[in-house]
Order: sequence, then C-alpha cells, then structure tokens
Amino acid sequence: MLQGIDFNPDAIYLQFSNAIAPGGYAWIFPKAVGVANVGLGLVALKTNGRNAREYLDAWIARRFPNGARTGYTVGGVHRAYDDQEDVCGRCHDRGDAAHMINPLSGGGIVNADEGGPARSRGAAAAILRR
Ligand SMILES: Cc1cc2nc3c(=O)[nH]c(=O)nc-3n(C[C@H](O)[C@H](O)[C@H](O)COP(=O)(O)OP(=O)(O)OC[C@H]3O[C@@H](n4cnc5c(N)ncnc54)[C@H](O)[C@@H]3O)c2cc1C
Repeated sequence: MLQGIDFNPDAIYLQFSNAIAPGGYAWIFPKAVGVANVGLGLVALKTNGRNAREYLDAWIARRFPNGARTGYTVGGVHRAYDDQEDVCGRCHDRGDAAHMINPLSGGGIVNADEGGPARSRGAAAAILRR
C-alpha cells in the first residue's frame, strides 16, 4: 500500500512486461486519492533469480520514488491444475485449496466465494439423493 502518489483514482492500471513481472503483471488499484494498492504477481520459474519483492521494489522505485509505504502483503497462489483428488476425507476443498485460481490472471476471490456455495449445494444434493 502506497500513499502520496499520483494516478487517476477512477482507473485501475495493469502493466504487462517481462521486465517488470515475468509471466504476470503489475497493478495499481486505487483506494483513495493518492493512495493505492500497488503490486505485482509473477511466475517464479520465469524470473532471472530475483524474487517478487525485488521486482516490486525496482518497479516502485522507478514509478513512485516518493510514495510512502503504509502496508505490505505477500502470498502465493497455486494456479496450476493437477489431477489430485480435491476431496479431503469427508470434506470438500474450495477456493485456492481446490486450485480454483484463474490461470491467466492469478485472481481467485470470486472463484473462492462462488465455489464454496456451489460445492455445498452439490454436497447437499448428493446427500438428498442417498
Ligand atoms: C498478493 C496477492 C494478491 C492477490 N490479488 C488478487 C486480486 O486482486 N484478485 C483476486 O481475485 N485474487 C487475488 N489474489 C488471490 C486471492 O487472494 C485468493 O485466490 C483467495 O484469497 C482465495 O480464497 P480462499 O478462501 O480459497 O483462501 P484464503 O483466502 O487463503 O483463506 C484460507 C484461510 O484459511 C486459514 N487457514 C489455513 N489453514 C488453517 C487451519 N489449519 N485452520 C484454520 N484456518 C486455516 C488461512 O489463515 C486463511 O485465512 C491475490 C493473492 C495474493 C497472494
């Protein structure tokens, strides 16, 4: 999270460049005037050995050298589908645990939100059929 930066608060920005975020993209999501979630996601196997933090620091240093950092969030997403069984014992996975990430964007909030109720409805229907 950066504040004191200059951008159009009515727009989101997505920047695609292997120099900035190999295999992924960088973003600016406005939160308020002069305040934005500024980040990037990348595919680790496509980097030149630098980690995501190093790519992000380099991009911010070029684009918003005077921005003040007020928060920092990191994480990984599992965007590759595999044929692992997505049922764990007597419970159903959903969201990231079920690899519901969009493989193009790396986004998974809506998938997780909608996947949970969908899985629950499916389980309820299966129980009722028994
Ligand atoms: C930096 C970053 C930026 C992202 N940006 C976007 C974006 O802009 N748009 C988008 O759509 N997606 C984005 N994503 C992906 C998105 O965050 C995930 O797809 C989404 O949060 C998955 O939701 P979930 O409920 O499946 O899992 P999570 O949000 O990971 O929730 C799982 C929860 O379970 C808890 N937990 C784990 N183990 C246990 C345990 N044993 N007992 C109890 N609790 C446990 C965890 O603490 C966590 O709170 C981003 C991810 C990252 C890392």
